[in-house]
Formats: sequence, structure tokens, C-alpha cells
Amino acid sequence: MSHPPSQPRTPVFAANWKMSHGPAETGAFVERFTAHHRRRSDATVVIFPPAISLAAFAAAASGRLDLEFGVQDVHTELEGAHTSGISAAMVPATGATWALAGHSERRREFGDTDADVGRKLVRILEAGLRPVLCVGETLEERESGRLSTVLETQIREAVRPLDREDRARLVYAYEPVWAIGTGRTASPADAAEAHAIVREQLARTEGCDAERAAILYGGSVKPANIEALLAAPGVDGVLVGGASLDPDSWAAICAAGR
Ligand code: PEP
Repeated sequence: MSHPPSQPRTPVFAANWKMSHGPAETGAFVERFTAHHRRRSDATVVIFPPAISLAAFAAAASGRLDLEFGVQDVHTELEGAHTSGISAAMVPATGATWALAGHSERRREFGDTDADVGRKLVRILEAGLRPVLCVGETLEERESGRLSTVLETQIREAVRPLDREDRARLVYAYEPVWAIGTGRTASPADAAEAHAIVREQLARTEGCDAERAAILYGGSVKPANIEALLAAPGVDGVLVGGASLDPDSWAAICAAGR
């Protein structure tokens, strides 16, 4: 049986502000960024502000429907006694349409397991949000030759509770833990190798759409390395932390590949 031709994957430029830019700084960021960023119809730009800044972001970006935004995490439960938790069901009312799951800082600081990440993906998808599943290896895992095993396990376990339709809706971010916030970037060849492993795992996993799934690269992406990383085979966009905090640097990144 012949397969339909694969669709070009729309590049995604995603900014993870982590715990930076509170409501007081968010408006100024959006104003400066939008003054420099020309809308693009050939790419998606999405920002993940801290939850406390979602309303400020929505207000500041209300004139720029091309800017999408999302939450950095959701709780595994939808409601109840979970102090500080973010219910996926409450997110759409903020205007946010995306959610991260499995960021390495959540895994490291909050102990999120692959099973937790799977439960969060279920909540995110039930809420109609677009999930970005973050995966990546530590330096120790890479140096002991476990890159493939780690990526395969993280993907397999996180998608386990999802049905076929939902599996096809995931966006992935390959983020080597040793390159996050360290200034140490994976080379384009390293990124291409890991993205190929992720895509092979998707091809082996029922329901996952290996051809169409966007796989973003994250880890010390900057204006100086964005073009080379985006040109690497299989890299469909980027997830950027530190360099997304400055509106000029973020605008330069979002102009890449035009
Ligand atoms: C991230 O946290 O998702 C990230 C990639 O951070 P940085 O760009 O600062 O390495």
C-alpha cells in the first residue's frame, strides 16, 4: 500500500520563560517583541509565560493573534486539594492553547515520572490544548551510551495512556539536559542524530505520526546558532529558555529560516 506524501512540517518557535517575567514585565516584553517581529504565515510562534503572567500576556498580545501561548505544566488531577496546581481544564479560559509536559526541570525538581507525564498529557489533550512532550538525556546517560534507551523509554511510557488519535496530536521537544541553561549546545549533528532516534521511536509506536510530528530542539539556542540548528535534518523548530527572555534576541530567533 502506498503512503500519502508526507506534509511539510510547519516550524515552531517556542519560548519557555520558566519563572521569569512576572505580570509587571510581560507587557513591556510583548510591546518590544511585537515592534520587531514580523508576523509569519510559515511558522508558529508560541510563548510559555509563568502561569501568574498568563492574563498579562493575553491582554498585551490581544492585538497579535499570530502569537500563541501556553502553560509550562499542568497537574495530573483536574480539581481538588492540590495547592498551587494548575488544572488543564482551567487553562482554555485564559486564552492559552498549548501546554508543556515533561520538562527536565519538572522531572528533576518536582520528581515528575514518565507515568506522571503520561497522565498530564491525557489532561492536556482532554482540555483541547496542544501538548509538547519534552524528552532528553542527562550527560551521564549520554556518556554511558544510553541515549536511545532513555529517549525510547520516555516516549513509550508517556504516550502509553493515550489513544491513537491523541498520540498523533503530540509535538515533541528533544532537550538534552546537559545543554539546558548551560551555554553548551548540541551540535547540529548531535541534534539530527537524537531527532532521528525520536522519529524512529514514533514510527515503532502505534498511533504516533512519525512523518508529521514536529520535533523541536531545545538547549542553549541563541541567535548565533539558530540557523545551523534549524537546518539540521529532522529539526522542526526550537524550544528556547534563556535567549527567549530578551525581546530582541527572541525576535532574532523567530526571524530564522525566513
Ligand atoms: C528549556 O528550558 O527548555 C531550554 C531549552 O532552556 P535554555 O534555552 O536556557 O537552555
